[in-house]
Amino acid sequence: MAEIETKVISNEDYNFLRKRMMRLEESYKQSNDQTVRKAVRDKTLFDICERFPDFLYDYGDAFECCAMSSLKEITDLFDSVMGRYSIEPLPRIQSEKDVKRLLKLKDKALKTFIKGYNDAVATHNLTYYSQRIDDKLVFLTVQDGEFVGAATDVSRSQRNGECLCHVCRKFKRGGDITFVTNTAKTTKGEYSSLGQTICSDYESCNREVEDREPLVKFLRYKLDKERER
Ligand SMILES: [Zn+2]
Repeated sequence: MAEIETKVISNEDYNFLRKRMMRLEESYKQSNDQTVRKAVRDKTLFDICERFPDFLYDYGDAFECCAMSSLKEITDLFDSVMGRYSIEPLPRIQSEKDVKRLLKLKDKALKTFIKGYNDAVATHNLTYYSQRIDDKLVFLTVQDGEFVGAATDVSRSQRNGECLCHVCRKFKRGGDITFVTNTAKTTKGEYSSLGQTICSDYESCNREVEDREPLVKFLRYKLDKERER
């Protein structure tokens, strides 16, 4: 058999793929009905192909051959798919200039953030990185090869009950979720801001996130607003 090349994908694409592939094992355990299991298999293939059109060519036959009649068959398919993909790391910050204007942090805070970010991207699979510095929660990610980030204000008021994380779409409560605002100064010198609830811990959030776009939009709010001037 020809050697299969590894495909490098983003952390959020990898999460998407892994979670869809896990449905096969879940459906096997939840149902004894082969018709149901095969329906889940076909739906899974369809869902994955919507995001990865090449997937049908690469794995259509393997899915067809997986009769969903033994756990081994399913884990073999899972391993052959997931073994093919690896996660593209976020780029290192090479110099302070890369993010100084974007984050607008004081020198000491900027140095702290850069060290935290570079350590994190060297050891973790990430869609984004965040770090609490004083009364700010500072975010950084990449879009089309460029850094996108913001030092957002942390709201002091504690929210009761569960809140939905804007990034990973999981419900969190108490200290696990933070209400942050991204504030821009408008033409008339007035302030306009956008608020979101986001996981306090970037690591758990990054294991769940399936889409980078909502975070990018939130982080670009200040940038885009101030460009309108
Ligand atoms: Zn989250």
